[in-house]
Amino acid sequence: MNQIAMSSPDLTEREARAVYDTVRSTHLAIGPQIVEFERSSAEYVNGKHAVGVNSGTSGLHLAVIAAGVTDNDLVITTPFSFVASANAVLYERGIPVFVDVDGTTGNIDPGQVAAAAEALTREPGSSRGWLPRSHRADGAVVGSLKAILPVHTFGQPSEMDPLCAVSAQHDVAIVEDACESIGAEYKGRRVGALGDVGIFAYYPNKQMTTGEGGMLVTNRDDWRDLFRSLRNQGRDVFDSWLNHSRLGFNYRLDEMSAALGVVQLSRLDELLEKRARVAAWYSTRLQSMQELVEPPTIAPSTTRMSWFVYVARLARGIDRDGLMRSLSEMGIPSRPYFTPIHLQPFYRQRFGFQEGDFPIAEDLGRRSLALPFSSVMTEDQVDHVCRQLLNLLKQQHASI
Ligand SMILES: *Cc1c(COP(=O)(O)O)cnc(C)c1O
Repeated sequence: MNQIAMSSPDLTEREARAVYDTVRSTHLAIGPQIVEFERSSAEYVNGKHAVGVNSGTSGLHLAVIAAGVTDNDLVITTPFSFVASANAVLYERGIPVFVDVDGTTGNIDPGQVAAAAEALTREPGSSRGWLPRSHRADGAVVGSLKAILPVHTFGQPSEMDPLCAVSAQHDVAIVEDACESIGAEYKGRRVGALGDVGIFAYYPNKQMTTGEGGMLVTNRDDWRDLFRSLRNQGRDVFDSWLNHSRLGFNYRLDEMSAALGVVQLSRLDELLEKRARVAAWYSTRLQSMQELVEPPTIAPSTTRMSWFVYVARLARGIDRDGLMRSLSEMGIPSRPYFTPIHLQPFYRQRFGFQEGDFPIAEDLGRRSLALPFSSVMTEDQVDHVCRQLLNLLKQQHASI
């Protein structure tokens, strides 16, 4: 059996040719490839505008700026995510207001979001319980609520309808972190263009890749112009090359990456179908031991899953980390997706978060096991992983 990879890009001669042709064209930055990549990206997610950037993280940063976040402003977001989604708030010196997640999907709990937004906009003085410990003291300076930042975790859409209702009610922006979910559909609608701005990421472990890269999608004309300016050193469209209207960054996406992206996006539906097939192979095999390991749960509102990773949920009492070590010894990689963000050392230190603050996210984090997953995995490989995993689980279970 070939060495099984945790993840793998799915690339053909077409991608290689597109990058080669771009290199040969000598047009390596700000050229025709990004224009085409942005046009096809907006079209794919049914958004009005798309703006390419050099990573999902840079896209999130620009979205947080557009939402108006500045010193001590509040952003309601999920602790059960990759650290970049909350870090973007910190780049603008905002305060992340974490709320707990739904125990079946792992996505942000819209009821908690509504309650937090209600409290934080109406009675700032008496709502300190929603804030990180570092900001609960009476004298602590706290700005205003600027955005809700849901993450479509593992390729499954968050409950956008109630989140959009909260955003409309309190006039705060919705920033969709769609970095794990390109092509996913919520009640028949593609994610990324359901709020004020959505962000996609194209690192090689995602559903499609540009090497490094990301994309912002928005229906707002003013935000498109702002994103174009911010990614390009703060130049406005009408500025000359050495005129800078605002503080900007170099977050531009290069032409080789964009060329790769154009081809990958044209193949995306094929890639997602292959991934869905691999996920189904896993779920069929794991179903036989539901009491020890649960396949991912798909919510009724998820009309199309965009499989990013395959994360099984272990029964309480299973030694997840021991299981991962045993799998690793057999040449099978796995990952503990996720250690909740509020328990990352830096967040504990800076904001005073503690174990127990978000019990559902923590429970999911302790029991999750991401298995090797990609569109190029074979059924034999899935079979091998599942057989070894089920054997180990039986042994562990027998000895508990
Ligand atoms: C991958 C990812 C990002 C960051 O994307 P990069 O391109 O690696 O910067 C942000 N948020 C989530 C939830 C992700 O999974």
